Amino acid sequence: MSPLVPPRSAGTTIPALLSFLTLSLASPAAGHGQQPTTSAKATPTEAALDRLAKQPAVASAMAALQRENEWTLTEQTALCEIPAPPFKEAARAAAFRDKLAALGVQKLRVDREGNVIGEIKGTGPGPTLVLSGHLDTVFPEGTNVKVKREGTKLTAPGIGDDCRGLAAVLATTRQIIVNKIPFNGRLLVIGTVGEEGPGNLRGVRALFSGPLKDSIDMFISIDGTGFGITNGAVGSNRYRVTYKGPGGHSYGAFGMPNPIHAMGRAIAKIAALEASTSPKVTFNVGLVSGGTSVNSISAEGVMDIDLRSESAAALTDIDARLQVALRQALAEEKARWPKSTVPLSLVIDSIGLRPAGTMSDTTFIVRTSLAAARTMNVYAPLTISSTDANIPISKGIAAVTLDGGGVGRGAHSLDESYDDRTDGYKGPQWILLVVIGLLTTR
Ligand SMILES: [Zn+2]
Repeated sequence: MSPLVPPRSAGTTIPALLSFLTLSLASPAAGHGQQPTTSAKATPTEAALDRLAKQPAVASAMAALQRENEWTLTEQTALCEIPAPPFKEAARAAAFRDKLAALGVQKLRVDREGNVIGEIKGTGPGPTLVLSGHLDTVFPEGTNVKVKREGTKLTAPGIGDDCRGLAAVLATTRQIIVNKIPFNGRLLVIGTVGEEGPGNLRGVRALFSGPLKDSIDMFISIDGTGFGITNGAVGSNRYRVTYKGPGGHSYGAFGMPNPIHAMGRAIAKIAALEASTSPKVTFNVGLVSGGTSVNSISAEGVMDIDLRSESAAALTDIDARLQVALRQALAEEKARWPKSTVPLSLVIDSIGLRPAGTMSDTTFIVRTSLAAARTMNVYAPLTISSTDANIPISKGIAAVTLDGGGVGRGAHSLDESYDDRTDGYKGPQWILLVVIGLLTTR
């Protein structure tokens, strides 16, 4: 998961009173706000989720998720201690597959891209729902991934993002199977590769372009910590831009177009771009390189640029203005030295494209996610981020990314931590309610 945009709106914020479990009514939640208790008539979706939580098999699964919380933390730790750098997720994938096999998940396979896919068949006909977490981390080979535990706090690179998601998927799957929770259709349990930056969503792209592409009706990624519902997909266009020339001596060859100067002109134009805040649009030159010495005209100037927005149209617009700026900079640097016949060229390579989109809060999948949180009396804000759900959302397929509970700190940093506090188990409980709700209550 990429860094989150702060919560956008609260969605439904009216809790139900529940007595079926020792849920959060008495204990203040750690790290996330409690909804104020008010009385209002439940919507049909909310009433359905309230009823679902009281079904014996579901209530039993929810209780087990709390009682056997240590199992979830053990799995989270075990998976985290298997390195999974970008494009090198195979060892963690194999472990995840073995864990699903041990739970009784059927038809397990690893697809050509490296995604682990298994399934649980429901009791009757119905939709196909994906429940997934991502296997990859942002950390390179050789990173120390040993988990340090102090009380309820686990510290290691990747412990939250996304070992929490993978562990929540395992825990939820386990209780669905153990408690024989009835549902319609089928549940695909998946570990994806390539969610983080360098992977450019290659796992989920493969999923939605491979054999399953026409059979997935709904998609949930568990990614991140807390109780957010990501229904806005931040799109990004990323480029490596290179200005090239022959280069030469800084004194002897002076008077020719300079690739680094052209890049500087481009950066000045990019820095001056206007960008709206609603929808949010961002631009960033994140990396620059080029040159060999202080007294050489460099043969190239290279920069990596990231453009983002949750609006596909706004992203297309800023992209178009970037392309103009890059070409103007080239023309201006050439024009600066009209007598020079030395060539100056511009090469633009795409190094990442993530489509943008929004899953409306009136859709069944978002309403169900909100209603399940209400049933549990936890506050689940709607958020915007860049996750595996970008791909299905951009295709108009019902999809959200849900957080896995607990409290995370420092995602993508070496001192990343996950604190389960007193109620981390509520993450998997919520996920279970959403999954079964989507497969039983429409
Ligand atoms: Zn993630």
